[in-house]
Amino acid sequence: MFSRSSLSFFAALFLVASETFLSIGIQATQIQFVNKANDETLRANLNKNIRELCGLVGAESVSASNKEGVEDARRIVEEKLTALRFDSIQTFDLEKYHPKAHSVMVGKKVINKPTFADFDETLIPTVLFYNHYDTQPADGLWMESEAFPKSFEECVAVDKETGNITKIKGRGASDNKGNLWAVLSAIEAYMAKKGNKPVRVIVLVEGQEEIGSPGLDVWMKKYAKQYIGNVDAAFSADGSTGDWNKNGVLTLGLRGGVDLEITVQNGAEVDLHSGSYGGAILNPIHALSALMASFHDPQTGRILVDGYYEDIYDFSKDEIDRMKRDFPSNKEFRKTASGGALFGETNVSVAEQVGVRPTIEFVGVYGGYVGEGIKTVLPNYASAKIVSRLAPGQSPQKSLRLLKKHVRKTALRVSPGAYVSTVDSGFSNEPFRGQIDSVSNRVARKVLTETYDGVEPKVVYEGGSIPVMRMIQKYVAIEPGLMAFSTKDNMYTLRMSFIPSTSSKRRRDRMCAC
Ligand SMILES: [Zn+2]
Repeated sequence: MFSRSSLSFFAALFLVASETFLSIGIQATQIQFVNKANDETLRANLNKNIRELCGLVGAESVSASNKEGVEDARRIVEEKLTALRFDSIQTFDLEKYHPKAHSVMVGKKVINKPTFADFDETLIPTVLFYNHYDTQPADGLWMESEAFPKSFEECVAVDKETGNITKIKGRGASDNKGNLWAVLSAIEAYMAKKGNKPVRVIVLVEGQEEIGSPGLDVWMKKYAKQYIGNVDAAFSADGSTGDWNKNGVLTLGLRGGVDLEITVQNGAEVDLHSGSYGGAILNPIHALSALMASFHDPQTGRILVDGYYEDIYDFSKDEIDRMKRDFPSNKEFRKTASGGALFGETNVSVAEQVGVRPTIEFVGVYGGYVGEGIKTVLPNYASAKIVSRLAPGQSPQKSLRLLKKHVRKTALRVSPGAYVSTVDSGFSNEPFRGQIDSVSNRVARKVLTETYDGVEPKVVYEGGSIPVMRMIQKYVAIEPGLMAFSTKDNMYTLRMSFIPSTSSKRRRDRMCAC
């Protein structure tokens, strides 16, 4: 009677899910409504769900700094799962695995369980949804009061003529609280409809994705089989979609990343006067510049770190062609980057550059005098922060080792006499490569095509890694898909900071005094 591998089992739930997503469609850090839901319960519950979502958006769940706020958000999610009468809700504190960690929560529910006595429950298909309820800090781009709205009125924008809610405003409204609420609203709507097929849902939700999911890997390795094992399809509702009015998006690749900070010192205890010492004492900014320049070939844009390309997954010609076909033109791409000029490896398309090639990106440089006007200073140190995006196949640990080795080797050559040290913040994410023909992605493709009136979803490789995706592959042994509806928010990167900048906490290992 039931076949766990049947796609149609999930399709009804996902159709409701995608309608919910589209009803709570997402734009940048705001949420924009397009009211595409056909489902009665969804329509009836929309205002209630928006109010609930606003409550969650108001929680100051900044995982980098606000433990209490993150816990507030977790409680709101727990209350919703309780209201939906989940069969079990368990919270696991991850602090014992990592000092910066928060917690992860697992909720389970069998929907529409058949009541006849001899029904074999193991035949009910199981689907896993992943989300997170933490946010990035509410930094410069937000007024503190706007970032976490404390009232419904502050949280929503209303069309003056129609009186309809058009947007939800707040830090994390799009990434990922809106997507999380869409999943829960879809489950609610699916439960309400008589005659829907039985399905077991597992909701895996954490309060620490924005700081790289510390400790989750250890927990997943130990407990994934026990608490979230044996699933038939898995989806992250964290992620983004492109042109969400015209087509859906299947994200098949996410780049991983590591970070490194390089500091060059000349051994002097203080900055010196350039008139008295310039030309005779080593200038750390000169030395650092030479080091920084050594990472790329200026002609080809290729990375010059030994071994950096050697483990990269070799995409087939078909895969590359599809990548290029579904990617915007260079002109359109530049528009999304607010006009930024193109750069990169020669003979490699932009689609590949942002999807499946590694980068070494300098994300900050400091040293010397940076105030207004000029100061005749010979600085005693200079530092540069690097984030390296990793392509499918690359290991974060090995990549970090290769980067450090490159600095050590090059420093000896380009800046003899300098004290060069490196430190990493622990930001370390494995790249993810999905399978287009997995059950999860076949379901997502079917539903997205139906939702977008017959338009096939685009296949994209882009964005930073969502750590849990690789963990689901490794520890749950299922190919997960991404079915998320946040639109691209290019301002996001401006607010993204994985590297803590408190120098007192830095762990400096002096590498060479050459
Ligand atoms: Zn996210």
